[in-house]
Amino acid sequence: MNPASRPSPVVPTVDLAAPGVRHGHLRLPYSRDDSAWGSVMIPITVVVGGEGPTALLTGGNHGDEYEGPAALFDLAQRLTPEAVSGRVIIVPAMNYPAFAAGTRTSPIDRGNLNRSFPGRPDGTVTEKIADYFTRHLVPLADIVLDFHSGGRTLDFVPYAAAHELPDKVQEARCFAAVAAFGAPYSMRMREIDAVGMYDTTVEEMGKVFVTTELGGGGTASARTIAIARRGVANVLRHAGILAGQPEPAASRFLDMPSDDCFVFAEEAGLVAFARDLGEEVSEGEVVALIHPIARTGLAPLAMRAKHGGILAARHFPGLVKPGDCLFVTATLEEAP
Ligand SMILES: [Zn+2]
Repeated sequence: MNPASRPSPVVPTVDLAAPGVRHGHLRLPYSRDDSAWGSVMIPITVVVGGEGPTALLTGGNHGDEYEGPAALFDLAQRLTPEAVSGRVIIVPAMNYPAFAAGTRTSPIDRGNLNRSFPGRPDGTVTEKIADYFTRHLVPLADIVLDFHSGGRTLDFVPYAAAHELPDKVQEARCFAAVAAFGAPYSMRMREIDAVGMYDTTVEEMGKVFVTTELGGGGTASARTIAIARRGVANVLRHAGILAGQPEPAASRFLDMPSDDCFVFAEEAGLVAFARDLGEEVSEGEVVALIHPIARTGLAPLAMRAKHGGILAARHFPGLVKPGDCLFVTATLEEAP
């Protein structure tokens, strides 16, 4: 059988269409030593009100990023059908096995969900989750908001983001939703490698797509959780699903005009940053020193910005390995 025509093994325990609010699971059969006929149970909330569009809200695509899950578990227990025009589908922890383990990838199959799209119904657990979103949830949605943060190894200035797209009408609708989110920064985001990303799958299906990077370090702060909560409500207002206008927020627009925005560590060692997140850096400036740690008396390796702008992201732990993304610069622009 062609894998694309094979049915998904995932079974939702709740009706995705009937009016009202339902809390349940996406149940994915997973037979294993400690549970012969066991399942992975991914929490889902569906809130259906009157006429209107459908929003699909997701967090925990990577299991060690917490602003999205914090905002979405909160929203799921507060949102009522009376407040909703249309439908809101909330999955606070998409890669639930990874989220429950507090790791970026799944402890079951090492699957990085955001590199597993469009997925396979006959693949690994992670690929089966991706396939269910691709074929069953994303097609229901008009607007998709997927929360990310830096996880245990990166930290970011808080931003909502969209990508440059071939369809300029779709791109403009995505950036309008990013502006509505109202994070401290709004980013025109460049990816190191977009193959296999949820973002790419959703965008190729013509949907309005917003992603975020709201902090990192494997935790979430009061400030970044507040940004996430306000942002999701603003996006739902922007879509016409919640009443009222998005709360106005000052947001600075950032662009990543070339791959030179990314700087990767070229040696192992102790990293000493000379700049903090959000500070301006100029082209050629030393942003971080990497000190060899095996002996004293050796000069550190100076890592320079290849592109001026602000420091938008940085490696979070104090030790780095060759190939680690050390920092990202992005340029401040006029809002489009
Ligand atoms: Zn992520």
